[in-house]
Amino acid sequence: MMNRRQAIKTTALASVALATLPAALAQNPAAASTTIGPFTLPRLPYATDALEPFIDARTMEIHHDKHHAAYVTNLNKAVAEFPELGMHSVEDLLKDLNAVPETIRTTVRNQGGGHYNHSLFWQMLKKDGGGPAGKLAQAIDASFGSLSAFQEHFTKAALGQFGSGWAWLVLNADKKLNIEPTANQDSPISQGKQSLLGIDVWEHAYYLKYQNRRPEYVTAFFHVINWDFVAERYDKFAA
Ligand code: MN
Repeated sequence: MMNRRQAIKTTALASVALATLPAALAQNPAAASTTIGPFTLPRLPYATDALEPFIDARTMEIHHDKHHAAYVTNLNKAVAEFPELGMHSVEDLLKDLNAVPETIRTTVRNQGGGHYNHSLFWQMLKKDGGGPAGKLAQAIDASFGSLSAFQEHFTKAALGQFGSGWAWLVLNADKKLNIEPTANQDSPISQGKQSLLGIDVWEHAYYLKYQNRRPEYVTAFFHVINWDFVAERYDKFAA
């Protein structure tokens, strides 16, 4: 049994953690992990085998339960000394890394970036996720010429990222679409850009199934894009 003081503390931490979760995930807090600290691992919004055969269940399980969980644990460890940081969302910390104490800035950039990027990544994936529609489709055509030209550019960025990192479709501060890679767990949000779609090209994202064949993984990725989610983000940030 926890005493009253512990209970108050636990409740306070839980509300802070909830405030940092995407709205859809916050609806099911009981399913979130019980990591100690202000940041929590969001639940995968589908079963680990939901993206088969394009992304296999074992990869999803390890990727979410081990890799993403480790980013959350390490972020919580880093901010333990600075409780006021736990009052902010991870997005806010990444938006202004210079405001983060220098001693933990690199850790927040890496571990916080990992937490933020993966929290978005799970939501960007869906089997039979359709195609771009509405204003997003128009913007893709206007920016890249066509959907297939977009895919070509995006693939090139994903394959061109040397070592670990991501390739992103971002909305710049001037509301223009762009494709760009980031190294490690750097997030476009730190450059004032919103990520609409991202592909994780760390080997942990594909090695079990595809080994060194990153091009096959990138081809498969186009079968599991949640285009409704991408369009939702475009409409939200381009408005
Ligand atoms: Mn990853």
